[in-house]
Amino acid sequence: MGNSSVSQPSPASTAIRNLPIQERIDWLMEYAHRYAQMYQSPESYLARERYLAQHDTGIIALKCMDGRLNLSLATNTPPGIIDPIPNLGGRFDLGWPHFGEVLTEQVHSVVKHGRHMLVLINYHYSKGEQHRGCAGWGYNTDAARDSAVRIRRQVEEVFGTEHSTVYPVVCGFETDEDALVLHGSNHRDVLDLSTLSAQDVTSLPASLSRLYPDMPDEMTEDFLPLIKGNIAHIAETRRSDRTLEIVHHEWMIGLGRGFNWLHMPNLALIIGPYSPELADPLSKAGGIIAANMQNDRIPDDGFLLFSVAPYQEVGVDRARATLKSRFMAEFATHIIRSDHPKIADKINIRKAVLSWHTRSLELIA
Ligand SMILES: [Zn+2]
Repeated sequence: MGNSSVSQPSPASTAIRNLPIQERIDWLMEYAHRYAQMYQSPESYLARERYLAQHDTGIIALKCMDGRLNLSLATNTPPGIIDPIPNLGGRFDLGWPHFGEVLTEQVHSVVKHGRHMLVLINYHYSKGEQHRGCAGWGYNTDAARDSAVRIRRQVEEVFGTEHSTVYPVVCGFETDEDALVLHGSNHRDVLDLSTLSAQDVTSLPASLSRLYPDMPDEMTEDFLPLIKGNIAHIAETRRSDRTLEIVHHEWMIGLGRGFNWLHMPNLALIIGPYSPELADPLSKAGGIIAANMQNDRIPDDGFLLFSVAPYQEVGVDRARATLKSRFMAEFATHIIRSDHPKIADKINIRKAVLSWHTRSLELIA
């Protein structure tokens, strides 16, 4: 099974971004609906179940919100196995009150069932062109990588340096070929998966134990399929004639969690609700949308502000997610209207909650 059918930037994406705003929003809702249908299909469900039965290490990926960073696709892993936590620039600080809690809860929910947890800390860059790198870091790959290393240290501070249960791995994502670059635990050794071929697969366990000498065996075994999947995906990428254009065409600001279905380059600016400083990234996102309109990169008839809050259980949990989604939409609207009056009357607001089990989006009033 694959998630490529809804994860690849469709050739129609240029046509879509030139549609009137209502039609773009309709298209987006349909896209989210198709993802949920795919996620709920028996085939997809069984693929996840089978995968988890074989590899039960939990995998979290802290990463930039850039739509090109689709780790499930890049590692040929069924969707729903790697749990992505995206934020602008992949910036995180375990001291942020909300983020620290989200991460700790996620680790605890896995560990209490006797499972290990792998935390992939991503930064991204392009080997072909600096400006295809991370806009969130002003295309400064060194700064993005240093930030990932800092987060890794924080994960160790919270979950331990012996790594017997939680293992943080700094991992570059080279977006021209979707190639992962694994940084060893000593910060010196690096394994660039784009330099490996199918023949190197037999030596991978030895390479991994050199990079991560203290990684528990079960975890290494669960890490291997991601690496093999990435090597196969890189070969596939090389055979395809993908376009590497990266120009800002965003016409949507997403606020909240639960945007796993949205993996389209240059479509959305997604801001996780993790940092205590939400006004600043929201204002920056508003500025990018205003500039996109001013420079005719997108139609100036409107843009979408979309808040999403996921829930695990119906009842109290869903009710609280509803309030959260409403609050985030109101908060973001206020910031954008006051900081960017030129686009104030162009906001189209949608609020939703997302069922984590079915991945269905439900619009709310
Ligand atoms: Zn980025």
